[in-house]
Order: sequence, then structure tokens, then C-alpha cells
Amino acid sequence: MAPTTANGGISFWYAQTGLPAPREPLPGDTTADVCIVGGGYTGLWTAYYLKKAVPFLRITVLEARFCGYGASGRNGGWLYNGVAGRDRYAKLHGRQAAADLQRAMDGAVDEVVRTAAAEGIDADIRAGGVLEVARTPAQLARLRAFHAAETEFGETGRVLLSARETAERVRVCDAAGGTWSPHGARLHPAKLVQGLARTVEALGVTIHESTPVGAIAPRRAVTPYGTVRAPYVLRCTEGFTAGLKGERRTWLPMNSSMIVTEPLSERQWDAVGWSGHETLGDFAHSYMYAQRTADGRIALGGRGVPYRFGSRTDNDGRTRPETVEELRELLVRLFPQLAGVAVEHAWSGVLGVPRDWCASVHLDRSTGLGRAGGYVGSGVAAANLAARTLRDLVRLDSGQGGQTELTRLPWTGHRVRRWEPEPLRWLGVHGLYAAYRAADRREAGGLAAETDRIARIADRIAGRG
Ligand SMILES: Cc1cc2nc3c(=O)[nH]c(=O)nc-3n(C[C@H](O)[C@H](O)[C@H](O)COP(=O)(O)OP(=O)(O)OC[C@H]3O[C@@H](n4cnc5c(N)ncnc54)[C@H](O)[C@@H]3O)c2cc1C
Repeated sequence: MAPTTANGGISFWYAQTGLPAPREPLPGDTTADVCIVGGGYTGLWTAYYLKKAVPFLRITVLEARFCGYGASGRNGGWLYNGVAGRDRYAKLHGRQAAADLQRAMDGAVDEVVRTAAAEGIDADIRAGGVLEVARTPAQLARLRAFHAAETEFGETGRVLLSARETAERVRVCDAAGGTWSPHGARLHPAKLVQGLARTVEALGVTIHESTPVGAIAPRRAVTPYGTVRAPYVLRCTEGFTAGLKGERRTWLPMNSSMIVTEPLSERQWDAVGWSGHETLGDFAHSYMYAQRTADGRIALGGRGVPYRFGSRTDNDGRTRPETVEELRELLVRLFPQLAGVAVEHAWSGVLGVPRDWCASVHLDRSTGLGRAGGYVGSGVAAANLAARTLRDLVRLDSGQGGQTELTRLPWTGHRVRRWEPEPLRWLGVHGLYAAYRAADRREAGGLAAETDRIARIADRIAGRG
């Protein structure tokens, strides 16, 4: 790693905006109508929609560090319509139910763009769609199958691109083809989450920061500073869920790591293309995701160290030098025209992975305990849809509303078994990603237009197949 590369510091996005001024911790025992645990997109969008729907509700958000400390302040800024588990929901509940979920996700992308604008949140949003490229014959076969599946699910506006058409958008080395969807936008994650926190506070929501919740129980959230009692306690802690009492094996905290380059010159951008500001991804098993930032850099992410023993989560985003180097090498493989470009910052964060890789929303009517998440790597738009679903569930339960389109979506009420105990969890995840990396290497060296056998076996073992 170059000595000039900043490492951690939560994320590069905060190096740009500065860390927010801290809000007061919980001063002691109190009551609320709704207590939300976790101040990321899920918690804050839930507070937003509940308060908008029922302005007199007393809503308290409890945040362990500061709003946007987690993935919501660190992600790749892909606001897109992907949702973890759609295909499994199709198997469990039928194609129509999964298509409804997909249509709701398409709408969530527009809803975030529209609401940010309406609330005056400037999050550098640029709606250039999503471009995903294939760089090997096997990736190309997966890309075509993905394109066909999305189109069959009723997605409008998606186009399949030849190698030449792909290069006309972004000149990715060895790109053999691409698929572009209009249902996506690039954004600045920290500006969105900080703007959301300010917006809900202005609406009258109470936010307490530096207030870690140790345990959630029916009608209460317990912190070192006091207990909040509320008829509804909503858990919005995603990749950090394992830190709560009794939740160690609920959702696995999966790591994702990112780098950002120095600002590129006009000449470098001419060599790369990318004038449409699409979010950019590929079809490797250890896939990458990237964006062109508002100030003319490339921010690129990938898996790195997938998982830390015992579901450990965070060290303020610090990233192993080997991971930073791997991501830099990947950047140069994708864009050889950028060899020598400086990597200014590297960071990591955790996302929440349920045992069946399906995002879900749930409210238990007998206890008032709710939760939303398990988005795997696709939570920027999904958190918005999940929050509106939680709003509708709370309104339904409290007699202020009926069933809605959202409460009927197949992810509502979905339950899944817990992850295996250690060391099986660690061995399983590390084995899985070693297999994916091996499959990527074999596919890169081969001409076969089918997914490598190792990856297919890994998918089945992981429960993703
Ligand atoms: C590096 C990275 C890149 C990603 N890129 C993308 C992308 O480009 N597009 C996309 O769609 N998704 C992406 N994701 C996933 C996406 O960012 C998340 O799904 C989304 O931000 C989840 O929001 P959340 O509010 O549920 O969780 P978080 O943002 O993680 O928020 C949870 C909050 O809860 C707080 N908390 C945790 N435990 C407690 C406790 N005990 N008491 C009180 N507070 C607590 C945390 O401090 C945190 O602020 C990425 C994730 C990572 C890590």
C-alpha cells in the first residue's frame, strides 16, 4: 500500500464531508411510541416514513456511534434495484410475488431520488443507470442469463450491449459485453445518511448517538445509560446485529472493502470514457462494484477478507494492506490506462448476510419487536423499501392502517435459520470465498462459456444456488 493511502477513518466519504457533530447520548430511562435501534438508512428511513405518516408519534433512534457509522456511510453508492433473495422468493411464493417485490424495488430507486430532492438532501445523485460487464466467456454466459431473467421479471428499459457498445460507455479492458439498466443511480453515501438524520430530526424525531443498545426485549431497548420503553422496538442494525444479546448467529457480518483514486485528469477520463456516470460492476464470483464520483475519482470495491472470526465487525474501516493492493491491481486490470494512478483512501465495512441470503422485514405482533435488513450487498435502495414496509406493519398493528401492497410482499415475515456456530462459520465463509476466487482464476484462464464447477458447488453449499 502506498504511504500516501489513507486507511480507515470510517470511509473516504467522511474524509470529504468531515465527521458530523455528535448528538447527545440517551440521558436516562425514557419512553417512546417507537424505538428504533440503529441510525443507518434502514433506521432513519423508517423514522422518516413513520413520522410523515403519523406526525404525533414519539420516535427515538438509538445509535451506538453516530448516524451513518455503518455501511450506510461507507458503501459504493450504487442506488439500484437489486434485492437479495428475489429468486428464492419466487421459488417459495411464486413468480408473481417475486415480480411484485422487483417492481417495488424499481420504485424504491425513484423514491430515494425523489425524496432526497424534495427534502433538500444533496447527495451527489446522478441517475446514469447500472452497467454490468463480462470479462470472460463464463462471465458473459452469466451476464446473458441474468439479462434474460431480469427482462422476464418485467424489468423495463434494460439493454444487452455488445463489446463495442460496452466500450462506448466505459472502456473496461477485455469487456466482452455488458447489460445496462436504467434503474440505478450513483450517490454519495455519507451525504445521504447525514442528510436523512438532519431531516428526521427536523421532523421531531429524537436521535441519541454514542448509545449502544446491549439487549432488545419486548417493549424495551436496554443501554448503559438507561432503558427506552416503547410498544414497538425496531432492530435496524444490519451487519452489527451479532453484537446484540442473543443475536450472534442471526446475520453474518460480511466485509466489503473499497479504494478510491485521486481525481483523474481530463486526459485520463478521455481514455476511460464513462461520461454517463453509470454505476459499474462485473460478473466475477468475487464481483467488483465501482462508481465515478462527483469530484472525478473512481471508487471501487470488492470482497477482501470476507469475514472475521466470531462475527467481529469493525475497526473504523481499517483495511489490510494486502486487500488494498488487491483492489488496486484489480483497478489496473480493468483500466490499464490508469496504471500509476494514486489510491488516496481505503476502507471497509460490514453488511448483513442471513443464512439463506434473503433480505426480509418482520414485525412480531405479540411482542412489538420488528426488524429489517439482511440485504447482503444491496441495501441502499432496499433499505428504503424495507422502511416503508416497517411503517405499514406498525400502522397495521396499531390499528392505524390496513394491509398494503408492501405488507403483502414476499419478504415480509420471512424467517430463516441461524448460522452455524464457530469455527464452522469461519471455515465455511473462508472456504466459500477461496472457492469463488479459484473459480474466477480458472474462468479467466479458460474459454469455457459456463460457470466453473467449483463455483457451482460453492453456491449450493452456501445455500445460494
Ligand atoms: C463497503 C460496502 C459497500 C457497499 N456498497 C453498496 C452499494 O454500492 N449498493 C448497495 O445497494 N449496497 C451496498 N452496500 C450495502 C449497504 O450499504 C447496506 O445494505 C445498507 O447501508 C444497510 O443500511 P442499514 O441501516 O440497515 O445498516 P447500517 O448502515 O450498517 O446501520 C446500522 C447502524 O446501527 C448501529 N448499531 C449497530 N449495533 C447497534 C447497537 N447495538 N445499538 C445501537 N446502534 C447500533 C451502527 O452503528 C450503524 O450505524 C455496501 C456495504 C458495504 C459495507
